[in-house]
Amino acid sequence: MRRAEIYKNHKVQIFLSKFISQNLGTIYPIFDLNHRYRYPDVEEIVGNPKSAKEFLKNLNNAGILKKELYDKVIQCPKCGSVNVSMHYCCPKCGSFNVKKASLIEHIKCGYIDSEESFRGSDKLVCPKCLRELMKVNVDYMKAGVWCICNKCGKSFDTPSPSHFCRDCHRIFTFDEALYEDAYIYSLSKDVMQKVCRGLTNIITMFLQNLGFEVESPGLLDGKSGLSHMFDIVARRCVGATRSVIVIDLATASEDAVSQDFVTAMFGKVYDSAPNKAFLIAFPKLEESGKKLTSRYSISLIEAKDRDDVVNTLKALIT
Ligand SMILES: [Zn+2]
Ligand SMILES: [Zn+2]
Ligand SMILES: [Zn+2]
Repeated sequence: MRRAEIYKNHKVQIFLSKFISQNLGTIYPIFDLNHRYRYPDVEEIVGNPKSAKEFLKNLNNAGILKKELYDKVIQCPKCGSVNVSMHYCCPKCGSFNVKKASLIEHIKCGYIDSEESFRGSDKLVCPKCLRELMKVNVDYMKAGVWCICNKCGKSFDTPSPSHFCRDCHRIFTFDEALYEDAYIYSLSKDVMQKVCRGLTNIITMFLQNLGFEVESPGLLDGKSGLSHMFDIVARRCVGATRSVIVIDLATASEDAVSQDFVTAMFGKVYDSAPNKAFLIAFPKLEESGKKLTSRYSISLIEAKDRDDVVNTLKALIT
């Protein structure tokens, strides 16, 4: 399906507005044994786990959502269950009846043995030189792990993995396992930018209705002699008072807009000294940036939904 048609789909519209209004940022699945990974936020809109996955896949194919590998689900080749455990087995006889020990090296005397053999009553004591081990990486080092097979007695450091189905009790290896990808999803950058552009137009109209003269993008001269560009520069004269508002819109490349954006904006605001400065962040600003905005007298608006942004602006301007 083409992107334009997808946007017309009612469920897609609900999904996108929910995405922005609830600051979903990233959609994580939850795991349950019956449905494997499922996406409850999306199921609310499209109905069931299967169609939720299908829905996300379609939006990803259309470039509206980007996906990132989150986990791999191991499935029993016999019964299909995902109630599967991992066994670390003896490479010689294949038994999973294996004892795992951490190794410790006493730095002073160079003695290496299992942690167990260093354990005194409540402290670590070297069985060779009988000195007490106090600090890790100073007195002693962790020297890896060591396994001993309780069945055949072989010791080894790398066990061979196999899987056990808790439902049908089948034991199977990686070769036979069914292995399925699970993803997390987030809005692709260009979709967020599109939402941003749409919002810039709405804000422009809103400010014009309030009697502002709006430039987008607009320039404002600074004390330094430099001109600074903002996404929106709005000027209005009421009687003899002239007021200037600047607005920047920022979209996050990860979950939240970086605080660097605030710092960069402050440089422009400080020099050009508008009456009010607003930063609109999609979908939100990282925590450290929020403290900066209040210190720098930049009013922060985190994008809830389009109406909300405009209403918030309205309350702050008038
Ligand atoms: Zn099974
Ligand atoms: Zn063995
Ligand atoms: Zn020692």
